Amino acid sequence: MARFFPLTVTEIRPETRDAVAITLTPAEADREAFRYVQGQYLTFRKEIDGEELRRSYSICTGVDDNTLRIGVKRVQGGAFSNWANTELKPGDVVEAMPPAGEFNAPIEPESDRNYLMFAGGSGITPVLGLIRTLLLREPRSRITLVYANRSVNTIMFREELEDLKNIHLGRLAILHVLENDTQDLDLFTGRVDGAKIKRLFNGWIDPQSVDMAFICGPEPMMLAIAEALRENGIDNSRIKFELFKTALRRNGKAAASVVEDDGPKVELTITLDGTTRSLQMPRKGVSVLEAALASDMDAPWSCRAGVCSTCRAKVLEGEFELEANYALEDYEIEQGYVLTCQCHPLGDKLVVDYDQH
Ligand SMILES: Cc1cc2nc3c(=O)[nH]c(=O)nc-3n(C[C@H](O)[C@H](O)[C@H](O)COP(=O)(O)OP(=O)(O)OC[C@H]3O[C@@H](n4cnc5c(N)ncnc54)[C@H](O)[C@@H]3O)c2cc1C
Repeated sequence: MARFFPLTVTEIRPETRDAVAITLTPAEADREAFRYVQGQYLTFRKEIDGEELRRSYSICTGVDDNTLRIGVKRVQGGAFSNWANTELKPGDVVEAMPPAGEFNAPIEPESDRNYLMFAGGSGITPVLGLIRTLLLREPRSRITLVYANRSVNTIMFREELEDLKNIHLGRLAILHVLENDTQDLDLFTGRVDGAKIKRLFNGWIDPQSVDMAFICGPEPMMLAIAEALRENGIDNSRIKFELFKTALRRNGKAAASVVEDDGPKVELTITLDGTTRSLQMPRKGVSVLEAALASDMDAPWSCRAGVCSTCRAKVLEGEFELEANYALEDYEIEQGYVLTCQCHPLGDKLVVDYDQH
């Protein structure tokens, strides 16, 4: 089964000095595969210096835009983001997997909801996709966006957000918090941490009126916001997270060599693309994904850090532990879904199905 599809770059627009918005067009035959839900991401593959990289980028357009666009912010020393910012050009063809991710809430056209969204830096991309969609699909709902950046010239999609605010008067409020730039009110200068959020909740945002919160940004900011929301009675079922990065990322080649170890083994049965295979994997030190890849199975993957959900599969039998999970929700865990890059067997046998979505 073709997991990756070609996408033609039809426009590259500088957003800030360090970020670009890239518009992509699938081939006519693949249009259906690239229909997306607001807040989803695409996983790209690219060979750089002989190594296959996979990186995910969130879709920043809304479901009614009839456009597929991502925003890529350059990370210092980052392989893919620098390539995308400096070398990629209109007319080039890139390879991506169909949209994935659960950073959304089902649309309720008749409802009158208050959304609170927090974005830090490039974390605005999926949030912008949510905003663009909700403003059209839920005409009675309102959104407050708290958007944290280093300084005014690093704000991605600044004009687009202003335009949306003006078009949908009274339905979109935007509070910019800038780490380095002084603003009229000191509340809007500095980092978005626990203290700042408490102050925002004391006068600017009424947490009691929030129906649903979305957070995408650096991990410490996300944790501080989630804690403040919980303290104000907004439980996890009403908070959605999207994390872009953790300190963990395992190297594919190193993992493959671990699979050659001679220690005790576990029987791993994997169903992928309609085919079931059994293999032996080491009891310790190797994830289900690494074992599958080392056996030349074309299992899906991207971040290898428990952050995205590209490698999600369902465990049908056997005990396991998840080393990290920043992507799956409690209900998915209860149904037996795992991130195979973080899944390690605990017993003698593990049965995993990648085909159950
Ligand atoms: C679900 C998901 C959605 C994402 N959406 C977007 C998006 O819309 N826009 C976007 O710009 N990025 C997004 N990312 C992050 C993106 O996938 C890459 O991790 C990022 O662009 C860095 O890749 P790189 O190859 O340039 O850097 P690498 O070569 O992987 O890393 C180079 C150095 O940068 C550090 N680093 C890696 N990622 C980050 C980061 N995000 N911030 C700061 N430092 C980092 C690494 O620790 C390393 O030291 C998303 C990630 C996930 C998991």
